Amino acid sequence: MRLPDYIDFIIIGSGIAGLGTAVNCSKYGQTLVITKSTLLESNTYFAQGGIAAAIAPGDSPEAHYKDTLVAGADLCESDAVSVLVQNGPKRVQDLIAMGTHFDTTPSGSFDFGREGAHSIARILHARGDATGAELASVLANKAKEIPNIIIAENCLVADLIIQDNRCIGCWVLNDEGQFQAVTAKGTVIAAGGCGQIYKHTTNPWVATGDGIAMAYRAGAEIVHMEFVQFHPTALKNHNNPLFLVSEAVRGDGGKLITEEGKRFMVGVHPMEELAPRDVVARAIYHQQKAGREVFLDATSIKNFSSRFPTIYKACTEVGINPLTDPIPITPAAHFIMGGILADTYGRTNIQSLYVCGESACVGVHGANRLASNSLLEGIVFSERIVECLKDESSLPAVPPLSSHLEKPVVSAPVLEDTVRETMWSYAGLIRTEKDLLKALSKLDEIKMSAPINAYTLHNMLDVAKLIVSGALYRKESRGGHYRLDYPDQDAHWKELMVEHSIGSQPKLVLRTKRDSVLSFNDL
Ligand SMILES: Cc1cc2nc3c(=O)[nH]c(=O)nc-3n(C[C@H](O)[C@H](O)[C@H](O)COP(=O)(O)OP(=O)(O)OC[C@H]3O[C@@H](n4cnc5c(N)ncnc54)[C@H](O)[C@@H]3O)c2cc1C
Repeated sequence: MRLPDYIDFIIIGSGIAGLGTAVNCSKYGQTLVITKSTLLESNTYFAQGGIAAAIAPGDSPEAHYKDTLVAGADLCESDAVSVLVQNGPKRVQDLIAMGTHFDTTPSGSFDFGREGAHSIARILHARGDATGAELASVLANKAKEIPNIIIAENCLVADLIIQDNRCIGCWVLNDEGQFQAVTAKGTVIAAGGCGQIYKHTTNPWVATGDGIAMAYRAGAEIVHMEFVQFHPTALKNHNNPLFLVSEAVRGDGGKLITEEGKRFMVGVHPMEELAPRDVVARAIYHQQKAGREVFLDATSIKNFSSRFPTIYKACTEVGINPLTDPIPITPAAHFIMGGILADTYGRTNIQSLYVCGESACVGVHGANRLASNSLLEGIVFSERIVECLKDESSLPAVPPLSSHLEKPVVSAPVLEDTVRETMWSYAGLIRTEKDLLKALSKLDEIKMSAPINAYTLHNMLDVAKLIVSGALYRKESRGGHYRLDYPDQDAHWKELMVEHSIGSQPKLVLRTKRDSVLSFNDL
């Protein structure tokens, strides 16, 4: 399908951030959602555990705020976290009004789940462990009903179009294999994360970091890329992606054990199996390094098959019965805390370019995301960015554009796998300067042999290099970033961000720069 040449708003991506934004901004103009696969192929769809919001009796936004800051290891932006937790309950009500059915107890009240580093059971879930599928379907149906929204599936956004530091649209490879320019008053990147640059990941194939890579190439500032969250418990086998065994299983009493049946989280952290994800993932990694297989023993959860129907099915399909057998697990790349620097209205340092969801770094996750806060981030900020997006002025007459992207796209699966292997081996859960330098030189080697029109590979390489160079610069360990050669958290680094912008070396900037960088928007 040929896409419109001009539209009011372009939304890149159809996860919770993209569809949420589309539904909201369609009230103010014609909205085009461009997504590189089908509407439902996204990290959002595969989310299991649920969405966190301070709704349960005895809970409060203040308690949710505290838990988020603690998990974020002193690197969260407090104003952004306030926006997240204060707006959470209202946005969850919006989801319910759109038709989302969260699970309830027999008495009809919400069946709140408990997850790691939450001080109270506050996780709303749907269809047991298929919360993402429920939310994605509800939002997709809503978007399809709205006449002002055009949905373009199987269309790949290759690059942004920038004129005088204003984003005026993007280059799209449409579903007929033709490149075309689409221009717009405002463009929103909601293209998700980049787990697919790692050999072991829970993220589906679409998560190759395209949004962050294209923004970087366009001149956007990118920060905190060293902070990658590795989920402790993915089902261990040879699949890509690996199937996630939700943290909610540990919340309901699942215990981590070695092949000898010994629990190893006791004494590692006061919250034991429910410690922050980085702590649990590293403890598992150490067991594996010592040659031990690690399992999640959920046999004490008597209602496992009804509480976790998706996980139950995935396990039984590979011959494991979670009611009687411990589940073999391994850590896997899961979420990127860093991304495109944005304020709490999703504004970036490029005029008319907005970002929402996992591609963004608004500051709500700090160095480590609190479980179930990312679906919340998507829905809270997709409502908020529209407050500014709606006021974008129309484009001046745009000169005819010529594309530098005319060659047919090629895929480069072998080189893509080499990126994945490199990142897992040298820039994964445990990092050292020596390994990170090795990763950099391997990525440079791959770049030399990468065909110019292998767009996905180039996105993967760009994002991988941002992670590795961020990890090299940050000489401490904090949250999702662990340096064996700098194993301690260092208070000096608390105030700093590693900032990347194209054409210059990464630099260390004060976190307070966030305000000044973005303040031009308020002039
Ligand atoms: C297995 C799994 C379980 C999870 N469980 C939870 C949970 O229980 N709770 C929670 O809060 N979080 C969870 N997360 C994290 C959460 O799902 C994501 O962080 C969140 O859904 C991200 O939403 P998003 O809209 O930013 O991105 P996504 O949902 O990933 O959507 C990105 C969209 O962008 C599209 N796209 C990408 N590149 C391009 C391009 N070049 N051109 C066009 N389109 C493009 C993709 O196709 C996709 O539609 C989980 C993640 C995974 C993988």
